[in-house]
Amino acid sequence: MKIIEKEAKSIYTKTKIPGLDYTINQYVGCGHRCVYCYAKFINKWKNYGEWGSWVEVKSNAPILARKNVKGNISMSSVSDPYQPLEGELFLTRDVLENMDRDINLSILTKSDLITRDIDILKQFKNLEAGLTVNGFSDDVRKILEPGAPPHEARISALKFLKDEGISTYCFISPVIPLLTKVKKVVMDTKGLVNNYIVEFINFSLAGYEFKKILKNRFPETIRVIQNKKLMWNYIDTISSYFNRNNVPVSDFITHMGKRYWE
Ligand code: SF4
Repeated sequence: MKIIEKEAKSIYTKTKIPGLDYTINQYVGCGHRCVYCYAKFINKWKNYGEWGSWVEVKSNAPILARKNVKGNISMSSVSDPYQPLEGELFLTRDVLENMDRDINLSILTKSDLITRDIDILKQFKNLEAGLTVNGFSDDVRKILEPGAPPHEARISALKFLKDEGISTYCFISPVIPLLTKVKKVVMDTKGLVNNYIVEFINFSLAGYEFKKILKNRFPETIRVIQNKKLMWNYIDTISSYFNRNNVPVSDFITHMGKRYWE
């Protein structure tokens, strides 16, 4: 993993994402190495190598995090705040330590490393923590998210956070036919989260390499995806499951535009 240290000018970035005012990224790049990662468009502007082989570290982020900002803030959008490198650098922890405790902060991660910082998380008055959970089997995870913790670790993290009184949510993403175990995720997180956000795979941002892997390794999945009718049937099945079981879903994102596969 190539580590590039940078001094940033600011750490709170204004965003047009609905419901959010700022994003905060103390890292750019991510060692979880998800092959479908939407943030890899950043490679266009960074000449460091393949996505997942480098992480930019904003070493002055803790000082910049002291700025008093108002509104809803999301950590992070182009990295995972608890990716493996955080285990050594404690940068996310330093950023949190320097933030105003009144801030409205939402943290999203795929890693149980978030539980390490429970002492600081508990000091925030308006904090929610989300775990991305998709129920991939270990074989599938090793292909699609090789650097990210397994399903069980993410569930344990949610349980821990919930038991410690942290407001939690589950981000079921990406939903991919035959690979994402939506029902298993809901069963395993029952009583552990306040709500769910569901996001189907965004093919246009997931990139060519991801499509190639699907074609070579998961032909049945491709068969569903490339047939718009089958794909909509699949989406309807998932949607009906949530409705039938009164699962609290705050956002249901399909990314099914006219040319969703291109
Ligand atoms: S954890 Fe998120 S930011 Fe990191 S590689 Fe995976 S999708 Fe991208």
